[in-house]
Amino acid sequence: MALAPLVEPSAPLSAREIERYARHVLIPDVGMDGQRRLKNARVLVVGAGGLGSPALMYLAAAGVGTIGVVDDDVVELSNLQRQVVHGVGDVGRLKSESAAERLASVNPLVRVVRHDVRIDSANALQIIAGYDVVLDGTDNFPTRYLLNDACVLLGKPDVWGSIYRFDGQTSIWWARHGPCYRCLFPEPPPPGLVPSCAEGGVLGVLCAAIGSIQAAEVVKLIVGIGDPLVGRLMVHDALRQSWDVLTVHKNPGCAVCGVSPTVTELADYQDFCGVTPPGGAGKSGGSLLAVTGGGVPVISAHELADLLSGDTAPSRVVLVDVRGPEERAIVNIPGAQAIHLDEFRSGAAVSQIPFDQPVVIHCRSGIRSAEASRILIEAGHPDVRNLEGGVLAWVRDVDPTQPSY
Ligand SMILES: [Zn+2]
Repeated sequence: MALAPLVEPSAPLSAREIERYARHVLIPDVGMDGQRRLKNARVLVVGAGGLGSPALMYLAAAGVGTIGVVDDDVVELSNLQRQVVHGVGDVGRLKSESAAERLASVNPLVRVVRHDVRIDSANALQIIAGYDVVLDGTDNFPTRYLLNDACVLLGKPDVWGSIYRFDGQTSIWWARHGPCYRCLFPEPPPPGLVPSCAEGGVLGVLCAAIGSIQAAEVVKLIVGIGDPLVGRLMVHDALRQSWDVLTVHKNPGCAVCGVSPTVTELADYQDFCGVTPPGGAGKSGGSLLAVTGGGVPVISAHELADLLSGDTAPSRVVLVDVRGPEERAIVNIPGAQAIHLDEFRSGAAVSQIPFDQPVVIHCRSGIRSAEASRILIEAGHPDVRNLEGGVLAWVRDVDPTQPSY
């Protein structure tokens, strides 16, 4: 499906610009006209992480005139295995700041606009309205649905990518010409069911494969060349080194782009995806009996440390780690007993846990352990608490000598 160019050409290029972009100008399909369209283009990259890193650098090198970077995270050591826009000296800095500096060194002719915010339903329409196309480099379902819905409402293309371990997927969701993300995935998976890259890992170089395809699709849309991935889902398996393309169709019953949409404005996507926002309803506030939004009592890392080291019968507390062996190999809380979340789901865990002792359950960040806690509570255990913030909170607040991930 050939589409008209997304962007009008800019004023004529300078001699220096023509020299810089000569290898583009030489391609008949791009030419001077296409390069001027790139200069006039405004691309919003959401997430300066694994996918955003290659995408940002290639879009800057390509001469996209305005690049918006949305990210409110800071660079962490564990990001550097794949987030190549950042370097060692950037650890602890805002990702948007680090990325903007790197892009300026790649191509000072590009205007980089930093959005040091978490994009949400309150600001998304306003931010996205200032751009021609969105590149989704996020790693979570709430933001993915948010960007999809915002792009549908604004009539803009959403160039999407997703990665996990050795698998990558990419497509362009553009309701005006094809399906949107919700047409394929009307409902998010239950929280904790689909592991994130932070929990399950990702091959670093896979980000380059998928992020650069997203950048290529953005360039094609701007210039108006080739067959964009609208209505096609590209599926990549880096182990088989296979690339498959599936045809995907618009769903007339889609809640946001169908014939009678029920989603006509942005909603609360954390709520839609069943995710408790960090620092939100789950705050323990120092009380051992504070309750999360999901009705599970929580305990903070400090409180757990006191419990384990203090004189309040430490041997009586049963500490359970529901993560997998690869995660436990990175960092552990001393004394934790490994019972995988799958064993809670199958019912096998219940018989392994004494019901006459208090139980604290943890995972990486507190989401999977909340599910395990709920299962144990529903099985009738009288004293179950979920470690708020998981082992990450333990590393941050109790034992910073341990690695985080
Ligand atoms: Zn749709």
